Amino acid sequence: MSTTRTAQLMDGNGLAARIVAETADRAAEIARRAGSSPCLATVLVGDDPASVTYVRMKRARCAKAGIRSRHIALPATVTTAELTTALTGLSEDPDVHGILLQHPCGPHIDERAAFEAIAPEKDVDGVTMRSFAAMSFGLPGYVSCTPGGIMRLLEAYDVDLAGRHAVVVGRSPILGKPVGMLLLARDATVTFCHSRTADLSASVRAADVVVAAVGRPRLVRGDDIKPGAVVIDAGYNPGNVGDVDFEAARTRAGLITPVPGGVGPMTIAVLLAQTVDAAAEQLGVPRTA
Ligand code: NAP
Repeated sequence: MSTTRTAQLMDGNGLAARIVAETADRAAEIARRAGSSPCLATVLVGDDPASVTYVRMKRARCAKAGIRSRHIALPATVTTAELTTALTGLSEDPDVHGILLQHPCGPHIDERAAFEAIAPEKDVDGVTMRSFAAMSFGLPGYVSCTPGGIMRLLEAYDVDLAGRHAVVVGRSPILGKPVGMLLLARDATVTFCHSRTADLSASVRAADVVVAAVGRPRLVRGDDIKPGAVVIDAGYNPGNVGDVDFEAARTRAGLITPVPGGVGPMTIAVLLAQTVDAAAEQLGVPRTA
């Protein structure tokens, strides 16, 4: 008799809602004690429809959680120098506690230079080199939001990472690389795969934990998932399709994130939580709980 395994779903919507509710309580407490509520500055270059939607969504979530937002919309023709001047101004403004530069900013912008104009104590999206280094060294700082959300999901589902083999597919500076460093910090044995990896299937087959962060629909094959493995799909492709072949993978995995409703909502939750952390730090409001 054959039995079909069905993985437990990792509910990012539910966990994100709990984090946002706790964040809203902390934002209200900061407003009460400091006389000023947390403020996130959002900076958008140009009018790419996806970026406009992302920023609008982030600001709406801020408003719901009692976090103010200040929006700076710059024309697509803005220069790197003008963009860094705007970011430096926000970095120096005591009424702004966190800064989010929506990216990509366009091919003519030196994004690295722009990110580095964000003061580390306001880098709530975890995009600066200093934030990456602090995270890698295990020092205080803000983590890149999607990797931070993935780690919170793993924690919420009591995934023991010590000694487990984690395979991260993708090595971008905002997702693959930082999530690999965070997994390493939790004592996983980490392998990074990328576009030049010779045999992706072989690496995935050896994984106790798979993190897919590529942007290619269903690149990770269900047949390659080790029975009982934890599968985190950070991919988000048109049509609500992830980077993992979900239907096939769920018959082998132990735990799996759905798309949507897995990693996606966690990213914004971590952004809000880190904005409130930054405000608390800058306004001198320690945690009471
Ligand atoms: P990215 O900067 O384009 O990086 C993609 C990575 O995938 C690169 O490291 C690339 O390798 C690798 N790759 C490409 N083709 C591959 C292949 N055939 N086999 C193995 N690796 C391959 O993308 P990203 O910004 O990290 O985003 C990745 C995905 O996550 C996208 O679907 C994006 O929409 C999603 N995402 C979701 C959230 C969220 O909030 N849920 C946030 C950010 C991103 P090379 O380095 O060799 O080029």
